[in-house]
Formats: sequence, C-alpha cells, structure tokens
Amino acid sequence: MMQLAQPLNFFGFVYREVKQSLVDMETMFQLLKVEAQVKDRPGAPDLLLEGGRIDFRGVRFSYDDDREILHGIDFTVRPGNTVAVVGPSGAGKSTLSRLLFRFYDVSGGAIEIDGQDLREVTQSSLRQAIGIVPQDTVLFNDTIGYNIAYGNPAVETASVERAADLAHIGAFVRALPNGLDTMVGERGLKLSGGEKQRVAIARTILKNPAILLFDEATSALDTQTEREIQANLREVSRGRTTLVIAHRLSTVVEADEILVLEAGRIVERGRHAELLASGGVYATMWQRQQEAQRRTAEAEAEM
Ligand code: ADP
Ligand code: MG
Repeated sequence: MMQLAQPLNFFGFVYREVKQSLVDMETMFQLLKVEAQVKDRPGAPDLLLEGGRIDFRGVRFSYDDDREILHGIDFTVRPGNTVAVVGPSGAGKSTLSRLLFRFYDVSGGAIEIDGQDLREVTQSSLRQAIGIVPQDTVLFNDTIGYNIAYGNPAVETASVERAADLAHIGAFVRALPNGLDTMVGERGLKLSGGEKQRVAIARTILKNPAILLFDEATSALDTQTEREIQANLREVSRGRTTLVIAHRLSTVVEADEILVLEAGRIVERGRHAELLASGGVYATMWQRQQEAQRRTAEAEAEM
C-alpha cells in the first residue's frame, strides 16, 4: 500500500494543478486516465446534443464546506451565442468553467445543457461536447500533426490539414521543411504564443464541439498577439455556443451578453454598449483597461 500512495498522490497533485489552470485538461483525462471526483450516475445516458444551449440556474458552489464561492448564478447561453464573464481576480470566473466541465458538482441549483442536468449524463459525452481553447497552450514534444490530432491517431492527414488551414496555421506549416511532421516543443521548433494557440484551435476545430469554453490567461500579452488571439477566437466561436472567461475586456466587446462577476455574484449584465452607458463597475473597468492599453502601446512603440 505504501508504494501505491506516492504515484497516486503525484497524479492527484498534477490533476489539481491542471484543474486550476484549465490548461489541456482534456489531455489529462485521456493520458493519465485520472479518476475524477465526480462519478457517473449508474445507468446515466449520454448527453443528447441539440443546439448546445447552456443554462446556469441558481448555481451555488463551495470547494469546501466553510466558504461559498458562488452565491446563486443565473444565466443562459443560447445556441450559437457568446456570453462573456468578466470581473476581478478571485470572483469565481474560472470556477464557472470548471463546473461546466463538471470537474465538480454544484452545491445548489443546476447546470443544464440542452435541458439536461450535467449530473444526469455521462461525463465522457459531456466532455466530448465541449471544446476548450486554452491561451497558454502546452504542446507535446512531438510533431505539429500529432499535436493537432492528439489523442486520436485515426484522424486522416487531410482532416488535420484542413483544420490547420481553418486555424490559419496551414500556410505556416506547409512552409516548414517537414510540414506536419515538424517536431515542436522544447526539443523542436519554438512557436510563438499566437502560433501555439492556433495549434490548439486546429485541435478544437478537428474535434468540432457544439460548445466552446475559453478561459483567458491573466498573463500580459503584447498588442499584436492579443489581436491575433481575438481574431482566432472570433473565428472558432462562429456558430458555436461560447462561454468566454475574460480578463481583458477587449475580448468581450462583441459578446451577446456580458456578465460582471464580483465575489461570486453577478452584479451587472448586458451588452458592451449598455454597460458602458450605465456607468457602473464595467464602465470603470473598461476605462481603466483602455488607459493601461494605451500606455502599453506607447511603450511598445518606443522600443
Ligand atoms: P477567478 O477565475 O475569477 O480569478 P476562481 O474561480 O479561480 O476566480 O476562484 C474563485 C475563488 O475560489 C477564489 O477565492 C479561489 O481562491 C477559490 N478557489 C479556487 N480553486 C479552489 C480550490 N481548488 N479549492 C479551494 N478554493 C479554491
Ligand atoms: Mg480565472
């Protein structure tokens, strides 16, 4: 027993780390076969996808008993629409995305996709329906082709190429001497942040999920990369139900609804222009970020 304890703890550790960052967590499930904390109900059916409508109904959540993190969250993402969640660090934004992926079960209320409670369907069918576009993509030390098709060796090269084209990385890949067989990662070709993200987007396009989950990293980006990533997101989210957890407000301008989350409560909601006009929390955040961006752009121009 003692010998078993360590590897289990190790995987537990990695699992928690990955859950925190939401980076490549699908990979974690596939490669490590880590057992999740939540279990399928015996005899649970697969999720029956229609348009991919998401409903959060009075969702309450606490990681541990003594502190509630979400205090009753209500919102809907209609099929094909984009809802963005903004708010200060620690507000509970990433927790929303972890709950949608069912890393944890809600403590109160319910989350539904196309009218089906997440707790009533298999986790595998749920995770198949949701694509994640991480911002800080960690690539395997393998070929670009493997990184796009990963976890699915049955995918045909033509499909990988098409996904690469749709993710606007096809021309870049073709220009490499070894094309899709080019090694990337620590011991291979170094890709920029924007290029790595496009590899992840190609992966998502190949998966073709009805629902997209995009949790922005807090790390600072240069203006060019930020523009690229916004354009990438706009493209891949077209026609899909999209939930964006945004740290940079520039990402959310086009969202069908913006939710401002503070300390586990939605304190404002509406479209960008409405929220600006109402002069509340969002408007203040926006002005502050515009100012910060102007300073960054000036500093970049001077370099
Ligand atoms: P945001 O993404 O808005 O910055 P999070 O959803 O990551 O916020 O976190 C919301 C709150 O939940 C924070 O107070 C954070 O410390 C807490 N929290 C996050 N993950 C865990 C965890 N695994 N266990 C306990 N508390 C957590
Ligand atoms: Mg977060």
